[in-house]
Amino acid sequence: MSDTIAAISTSIGEAGIGIVRMSGKDSIDIGDKVFKGKKVKSLKDVENRKLTYGHIVDPDTGQVIDEVLIACMKEPYTYTRENMVEIYCHGGVIAVKKVLELLLNNGARLAEPGEFTKRAFLNGRLDLAQSEAVIDVIRAKTDKSLQVSLNQLEGSLSVKVKGIMNILLEMLAHINAAIDFSEDDLEDVDYEELERKALQVEEQIKKLLSTADRGKILRDGLNTVILGKPNVGKSSLLNAILRENRAIVTNIPGTTRDIIEEYVNIDGIPLKIVDTAGIRETDNIVEKIGVDRAREMVNKADLIIAVFDISKPLTHEDQEIIDLIKDKDAIVLLNKIDLPNQFDEDFIKEVLPEKKIIKTSVKNNIGLEILEEEIKNMFYSGQLDIESDVVVTNLRHKNQLAKALKNIQDSLEAIKLNLPLDCIEVDVKACWENLGEISGDTVSEDIIDKIFSEFCIGK
Ligand code: GDP
Repeated sequence: MSDTIAAISTSIGEAGIGIVRMSGKDSIDIGDKVFKGKKVKSLKDVENRKLTYGHIVDPDTGQVIDEVLIACMKEPYTYTRENMVEIYCHGGVIAVKKVLELLLNNGARLAEPGEFTKRAFLNGRLDLAQSEAVIDVIRAKTDKSLQVSLNQLEGSLSVKVKGIMNILLEMLAHINAAIDFSEDDLEDVDYEELERKALQVEEQIKKLLSTADRGKILRDGLNTVILGKPNVGKSSLLNAILRENRAIVTNIPGTTRDIIEEYVNIDGIPLKIVDTAGIRETDNIVEKIGVDRAREMVNKADLIIAVFDISKPLTHEDQEIIDLIKDKDAIVLLNKIDLPNQFDEDFIKEVLPEKKIIKTSVKNNIGLEILEEEIKNMFYSGQLDIESDVVVTNLRHKNQLAKALKNIQDSLEAIKLNLPLDCIEVDVKACWENLGEISGDTVSEDIIDKIFSEFCIGK
């Protein structure tokens, strides 16, 4: 890590300012080569973390590249724990790119994605779970998801995980002491104490795991699919939801044009509405993409909104939809209640007895509030206090917790059977290692590389 890295840290495009930043031992020296201050001769003389006015000038040609403010941050109290320089250029594409180029020509190297944060981790400024929270903060879609990510950035998850790891360490110490000193005296081992601690660990891991489903939704959005045959009012519904709730992002993946994802914010819950071209073009999605794909979408969905048109008799297409959603988390909308009723409501109630059925007139904005209320109820139903609880939002963390749970449960079995201590030790140690991969204490280099490669350049 002795080299100095540089990258554009703001998103590239027309903007007021753009920030280029450097981190590493030589940042300030490299900055000095290209910065001509109005009042100061050298960056070494500027006050730590104070903005200084001047120009970026190509030392080879004397050409002025941009008018800037510059800040030097001296190690160790910086994001990366290394010397850092930030250059505030004019926004837009050219100025920042030219400034970056100049830094690269004068001794810096282009940063890899996430390399600033990776250095923060490797230099002990953040643990792994905290580093991962950085990306969640950047990508947070609602106030609530931001809150959860900020808590994690503060270290809330790590504190919990380390607490559990400490109990495991006590167990390991206990076991090792017993193995070392009382080889012939196994009855001395306090199996009850071990069991008590293992149960504590099990309970705490379970508690964390129980937050993961909602955590995933906070992070990725409640994956929502609107189903219904043509003309029942699906796109009208989507548009009404988008109109009422600020659309957060519209994702149009470059390769497949047939699926658009819209994020809307329903009282802090990011709803990711998977809008198939089928919905938008008022085609029958089941017909258009085939029953298999429709089933796949339905299976992946956290929430299905099934729309029926009550101004028409029930058809076999409606029946197909009923079959698809039978065992899923679905809300049923009986739409077009402003028109004369031709629909067999009792039949729907009979075949979908567990489902919430809401009567709507999307066209007249009737029933949509009840729909939103119901979505909130489904999300909040399991007593989760997002403000204060630690919420597991990351799939990697969830998987590690699941592995840790399995190992501690294996050790509990072994303890209950009074198996030899080294058998118990193996499981306890494995559990400790599983958890260490969350905080980063026991994580391998491959995993670290993989985690940071998901970051954007400049972070
Ligand atoms: P989709 O094919 O399911 O996406 O249906 P659309 O949203 O395109 O709606 C089909 C037609 O039904 C349009 O002419 C809408 O204006 C109309 N529509 C949607 N909701 C209602 C409603 O609640 N009442 C009435 N009367 N018409 C509606």
